[in-house]
Amino acid sequence: MSETASDVLVIGAGPAGSIAAALLARRGFSVLVLEREKFPRFSIGESLLACSMELLEEAGMVDAVIARNFQFKNGAVFDRDGEFSEFNFAHKSAPGYSFTFQVPRAEFDSTLAAEAQRQGAEIRFETEITAVDFSGARPAVTSRSARGIEVHEPRFVLDASGFGRTLPKLLGLDRPSAFPPRGAIFTHVRDNTMAGAFDRQKIRIGIHPTDPAVWSWVIPFSNGHASVGVVASVEHHNSRSGSAEERFWQALEAEPRLRALLARAETVRPVGEIIGYAATVAQLHGRHFALLGNAAEFLDPVFSSGVTIAMKSASLAAAALARQLHGENVDWQGEFAEPLNYGVETFRAFVAGWYDGSLQRVIFFPRQQEKIRRMICSVLAGYVWDRENPYTGPQAGRRLRALAELCRTN
Ligand SMILES: Cc1cc2nc3c(=O)[nH]c(=O)nc-3n(C[C@H](O)[C@H](O)[C@H](O)COP(=O)(O)OP(=O)(O)OC[C@H]3O[C@@H](n4cnc5c(N)ncnc54)[C@H](O)[C@@H]3O)c2cc1C
Repeated sequence: MSETASDVLVIGAGPAGSIAAALLARRGFSVLVLEREKFPRFSIGESLLACSMELLEEAGMVDAVIARNFQFKNGAVFDRDGEFSEFNFAHKSAPGYSFTFQVPRAEFDSTLAAEAQRQGAEIRFETEITAVDFSGARPAVTSRSARGIEVHEPRFVLDASGFGRTLPKLLGLDRPSAFPPRGAIFTHVRDNTMAGAFDRQKIRIGIHPTDPAVWSWVIPFSNGHASVGVVASVEHHNSRSGSAEERFWQALEAEPRLRALLARAETVRPVGEIIGYAATVAQLHGRHFALLGNAAEFLDPVFSSGVTIAMKSASLAAAALARQLHGENVDWQGEFAEPLNYGVETFRAFVAGWYDGSLQRVIFFPRQQEKIRRMICSVLAGYVWDRENPYTGPQAGRRLRALAELCRTN
C-alpha cells in the first residue's frame, strides 16, 4: 500500500472528469484523475448540444474536438409517423454556438482526456476507486489497480464516475429518480442510407405511431455509421423475447418509418441495453467532495442533455473549488448546486412534458409564434441556464403546461 497526495482527486475520466481536471490544472492545481477503464472505451450518449461548445471552449478543448472531424450537428428533427418538426439551433433565442457534433464517445472521451493531460492533469487508467473515508482532516480514497492498493489523500474529491455513482453508493447518498424506470436498447449500425434520405446534421427522434412514450433515436456519425436506439418503459421492453439483437430489430419494426430508413442497415457492434438509468442523490456536495454529471443525477436520454449537464457541473465545481483551495469561503449550495439545478430543472420539466404528451403538442404545433419557437429551440440546444428565457428554471414546467394548453385550444 502506498500513499499519494494531490490538491484534487477526480474519480472517472468521462466528460465531467476531464473538463473538471483541465479547468483545475489550468488554474495551477495538482489534479489526479483515476479511471476504471482503459481508454478508448465505449459509452452511450453520443449527441451533443450546442451549449456544450461553450464549456469545451472554457476548458480549452474546442480546437481539439473540431480537429477530429466528428459529424457536424445543427439541430434535431422529430418524426411522428410522417409528421415532422425540425429545430435548427441557428434559430435559438440565446446567444452562443449554434452547432455541435455527434460523436462516437470512445473517440470523444479520449480526446477530452488527452486534452486534460496536455493541460497538466495526471490520469491513471485501469484504476478503480473502491473505498473512501471523509472522517479525517483530509479525505482518504482507496484505489485498486495493477500497481496494487493505494490510498490517496487529496484536499478535495470530485466524483465524476457517471453511472458508476461511486460516492453516492459508498456514502449512501443514492436516491431513486421521480421518473418511472425506463430502458433503452441500442447499437451502432452501418446505416447504408441513400444520400439525402435524411439530414445527417440532426439527431432524428422518431415517435412510435400509437404509443407516444416509446421513441427512437438515430444519431449519424461522420464515418457512415449511426447510433440507433429505442426507449420505452421497462414493461414495454420486457414484452419482447429473444436475443438482444432480435429484440432490437423487433423494436425497430414497431416504428415502420424508422425500419424503412434503416432497411439496409447492418449492426457493427453488439446490441446493448440499459434499464432504469434515471437516478438522483440526496445532496450534490459535502465536506471535501462534490458530485458531477451522472454521478449526481441522470434524467432521461430524450433531449441529449447528459454530457452538457456533466460539463456544466464540472465548470461550476471547478470555479468554486479553485476559490476554496485558495483559502476562500465557498457556499457550495449557492455557487454550485443552485446554479446547476436551474438548468437541470429546465430539462426535468421538458422530460416530464415529453412523456405526459404536453411537450410533443408544443413541438408539433404548426402555428407556433416564432418568438416562442426560438425559446423552445434554445432549450433543445442546451441553453437551459439562460435566465432571459421564460422556459428555463423552476418556472419552466408551469409555463410549458400553459403553452401546451394554448396549442390545444388554438
Ligand atoms: C440510453 C442513453 C442515451 C443517452 N444519450 C445521450 C446523448 O445523446 N447525449 C448526451 O449528452 N447524453 C446522453 N446520455 C447521457 C450520457 O451518457 C451521460 O450523461 C454522460 O456520459 C455523463 O458523463 P459523465 O462524465 O458524468 O460520466 P461518464 O461519461 O459515464 O464517465 C464516467 C467514467 O467514470 C469511470 N468510473 C466509474 N466508476 C469508477 C470508479 N469506481 N473508479 C474509477 N473510475 C470509475 C467510468 O469508467 C467512466 O469512464 C444518454 C444516456 C443513456 C442511458
